[in-house]
Amino acid sequence: MIELSAALDTVCRTVAPFPAEPCSLESCLGLTLANEIISDIDSPPFDKALMDGYAVVAADVATGTATLNVIERITAGQVPTQVVTSGTAIQIMTGAPLPQGADAVVRIEDTKLDGVVVQIVGKPVAAEASVIRRGTSLKVGETVLAAEVRLTPSRIGALAELGQAQVAVRRAPRIAVLATGDELVPIDQVPGPGQIRNTNEAMLCAQIRTAGAVQVPLGIARDNREDLAAKIQQGLQADILVLSGGVSAGKLDLVPSELSAAGVREVFHKVNMKPGKPVWFGTFTPPETGRTVAVFGLPGNPVSSMVCFELFVRTAVRRLMGSEPARPAAISATVLNVFRHRSDRPTYHPAEITWTATGPQVRLLPWQGSSDLRATVSANGMAVLPAEEQLFQPGDRVDVVSWDA
Ligand code: AMP
Ligand code: MG
Repeated sequence: MIELSAALDTVCRTVAPFPAEPCSLESCLGLTLANEIISDIDSPPFDKALMDGYAVVAADVATGTATLNVIERITAGQVPTQVVTSGTAIQIMTGAPLPQGADAVVRIEDTKLDGVVVQIVGKPVAAEASVIRRGTSLKVGETVLAAEVRLTPSRIGALAELGQAQVAVRRAPRIAVLATGDELVPIDQVPGPGQIRNTNEAMLCAQIRTAGAVQVPLGIARDNREDLAAKIQQGLQADILVLSGGVSAGKLDLVPSELSAAGVREVFHKVNMKPGKPVWFGTFTPPETGRTVAVFGLPGNPVSSMVCFELFVRTAVRRLMGSEPARPAAISATVLNVFRHRSDRPTYHPAEITWTATGPQVRLLPWQGSSDLRATVSANGMAVLPAEEQLFQPGDRVDVVSWDA
């Protein structure tokens, strides 16, 4: 049995990033950028008005009252042809280039237009008021996005502003999900005596989508060698194969031996953690393709499967997609409730994390163990609790890992 941190290091070392490939902006949401992006433009590209109003010489309006001759009108998309001098103004709309000679914009609300003469009737206006200068937010040569960031709507917006219609990304992995167990029935069926629904497939597929990967559900494999072998072959077509169940020490826990028979090399089996101790990890490298498939055997209890996915499979997904850091990010949070913890292994405990102005806070939820999925419905992450007895009090600090994307 190895420690979690060694296990995560092993996953990181074993799984290598996909090669970079081109992708259009409309298809890259959630993917990881492969190259740093450096700006070849200034933003804004010219000095411009931030308000509808009048471009003026600020010294003319320093007292808040003035009468100026309006010599031109420009809207966004037009370019001024006149120069503003003392005693004159150009009517200007938000986003239009600031005319030469002008160094402030007086808001339309603070003016009264009478023919070609505008009266300034508002508060004093200082130089640079309602104006943004070329390159204020971004200059040519500056780094806009570091390599290996995940593409979010705001980053896609920044790429669009730079005219990067196509970017280099690492693609989303395809993850096959194979639930194993003679007791399982599809979720749309009523379980008979001794049977339960295949909870894990729907849950793991949802986790796959949250991680930005592509789900390939394979249904249920029965606890016999023939069925397992056939479905494992299917699963090894994907980039990652995730199995649930059949990795403990029971009589019908055939997954490790069937994976070995299929040529999957065991990397580790069993990690010192709760839940999820029997977790299995291996790799398969077919000689024809040379690409390596990562294979995870997750214990069948739903919370074990869920926690092991968050810790191990998501780390592999981040590695394949080139997203750094690949290991789950733990942050320190303030405990909100009194909670007695008792465990002989490091524990990933269902937790409700809230982000407040004073930092993250966490409620440690009542939980009956690895089969108690119900307890997780109000959880959005897990708290990392030690392998010992500890009485938590409000105000104590504890590390938490969020399950959000
Ligand atoms: P196993 O890891 O196969 O020994 O299964 C451990 C426990 O998890 C057993 O109670 C199983 O019935 C349950 N289990 C296994 N697979 C699933 C699944 N796909 N959905 C819900 N429960 C499962
Ligand atoms: Mg089983």
